[in-house]
Amino acid sequence: MADASLMVWIDQDLCTGDGICEEIAPDVFVGRDDGLWVVKETAGNWGVEIVFDGVQAPDGSRGVARVPEDQIDIVVESAEECPGECIMIEPFDQETFDKRGA
Ligand code: SF4
Repeated sequence: MADASLMVWIDQDLCTGDGICEEIAPDVFVGRDDGLWVVKETAGNWGVEIVFDGVQAPDGSRGVARVPEDQIDIVVESAEECPGECIMIEPFDQETFDKRGA
């Protein structure tokens, strides 16, 4: 399993549902059935697929996905391009990771 230095989550209350984030970084962002976007971890990057959709795992601020090191630039670009300004990038925090319930 790769190490992470950053984590990312989406504030669904602010998401406009345009999907720009997934166009830029499809390994990290995915659209949900209700037209809002959520974060995910892929099996290819982390050994198991987890979608932080509020069903399989928490969404919102508790639904934090690790950012693969080789995806940092495009995740930052996604946050910069996000019209809702709702992509939150944080330093990896073990306590947050342990509490996310995934
Ligand atoms: S770019 Fe931002 S506003 Fe657009 S779908 Fe992604 S999270 Fe939502």
